[in-house]
Amino acid sequence: MIPGPIEFEPAVLAAMAQPTTSHVAPDFVECFGRALDQMREVFLCPDGQPFAVAGSGTLAMDMAASNLVEPGDRVLVVNSGYFSDRFVDIFTRYGAKVKSLSAPLGEAPTAEQVRAALAKEDYRLLAVTHVDTSTGAATDVRGMAAAAREAGALSVVDGVCATAGEEMRQSDWGVDVYLTASQKAISVPPGLALLVASPRALERFRGRRTPVASYYSDWSLWLPIMEAYQERRAAYFATPPVNLVAALEVSLGQILAEGMEARFRRHRLLSEMCKAAMGALGLQLVAKPGFEAATLTAPYYPAGVDASLLGHVGKAGVILAGGLHPEIKSRYFRIGHMGPNTPGDVITTVGAIESGLAAAGYRFEPGAGVAAAQGVLLDRAA
Ligand code: PMP
Repeated sequence: MIPGPIEFEPAVLAAMAQPTTSHVAPDFVECFGRALDQMREVFLCPDGQPFAVAGSGTLAMDMAASNLVEPGDRVLVVNSGYFSDRFVDIFTRYGAKVKSLSAPLGEAPTAEQVRAALAKEDYRLLAVTHVDTSTGAATDVRGMAAAAREAGALSVVDGVCATAGEEMRQSDWGVDVYLTASQKAISVPPGLALLVASPRALERFRGRRTPVASYYSDWSLWLPIMEAYQERRAAYFATPPVNLVAALEVSLGQILAEGMEARFRRHRLLSEMCKAAMGALGLQLVAKPGFEAATLTAPYYPAGVDASLLGHVGKAGVILAGGLHPEIKSRYFRIGHMGPNTPGDVITTVGAIESGLAAAGYRFEPGAGVAAAQGVLLDRAA
C-alpha cells in the first residue's frame, strides 16, 4: 500500500509474461494502437494526441518541458511540494525563466493566487502537480487550467500520482498536457512515460523557433510513430517496450470497463475511509483540509512513535512508505490507495496500522480506526 509502484492485477502481469513479439508484428501494431486510443478515453481527452514512451514519469515531465518551452520563455510553477521542485529544475534546464509560486506545507496555491501571479508577467506556460506524492496535497487543476487559458499560457499537469484515480477531465477542463507514469493508478509496472497533448499544445510545438534540445524527447521524432500506430501501421524510431505496452492495453481496458466516473468515486471512497481511520486513531494528516488527495494519505506519527512503526506494520502484513518531503521526512508516513485497491484493502491496512501502533506502545482504543473506515463505507452504501 505504497504510493507506487502499486500491487498489479494478475491479468496485467500475465500480459508482461507473454512471449515478446516484434514491434512491427501485426498483433503488436493492433495492441499499441488500441492502447493509444484507450489513453484518450482514460484521460477524457478525445481530441488529444497520446504519447507512450519507454521511460519513467520524469521522462514525461522532460518531454512536456523540452517540447513546449524555448529559451527565455516565462514559466510559472505551481509549487505544492517535492515534485513541483523537479518541474522547476527541468524547465530551468531547458532555458525557461521559471518562477515558483509556493504554499504552506500540506497545501497548494489556489486558482485565485495563480490567476493573480499570471497577471504579473507574460507567462507562456503554467506547470502544476496534480497530487504531490510527498504530502498528499491535491491541486485545483480545473481552476488552474482555466486561469492559464485566460492568461494565454499553456497548462502542463503532472498526474503521476493522480491519473486514473483522481478526478480529471482533460478536454473539459482545458488542460494542455496531462502526463503520468505507468506504476501508480494506471496500474502497470514501472517503465512507461505517458502523456496526452491537446491540439493547442501541438500548435505551440509546431510553431517553435528553435529545435528541441533533447534528442530522445523530441516530439518531431515521436509524433510520426504515435500517429502510425494509431492508424494501425508499424513505424520505428526507438524500440517500444513491447511487453509493457501489452500490459498497458490490458490495464487501460480494465480501467475503462470499470468506467471513469465509478473509478473516481471509488478512489474518493478509499481516501475518505483511510482519512477517517487516521483521525479516529488520533493521527494528524500532512495535507490540510480542502487539499486532500484521493490517491494517498500522509499521516504524521503520533507522539512517542517514530519510523519504526513501518516495520511493525510490515510484520502485520502491509507495506507502507516513509516520508519524502525534506522538511518533515522523519515525522510522517504515506499510505497509497489507488489502482485496483478495494475498501477491504483499506480496512486491512488500517488493521495492520493498529497492530503496528500497539507494538510501538501507542495507546488507543483497539478497532477505532477500523470502525471509522467501516463507518464511511456503510454510510456510502446506505
Ligand atoms: N511526479 C510525481 C507527482 C511523482 O509522484 C513521481 C514519482 N513518484 C514523479 C513525478 C516522477 O516519476 P518517476 O519516478 O516515474 O520518474
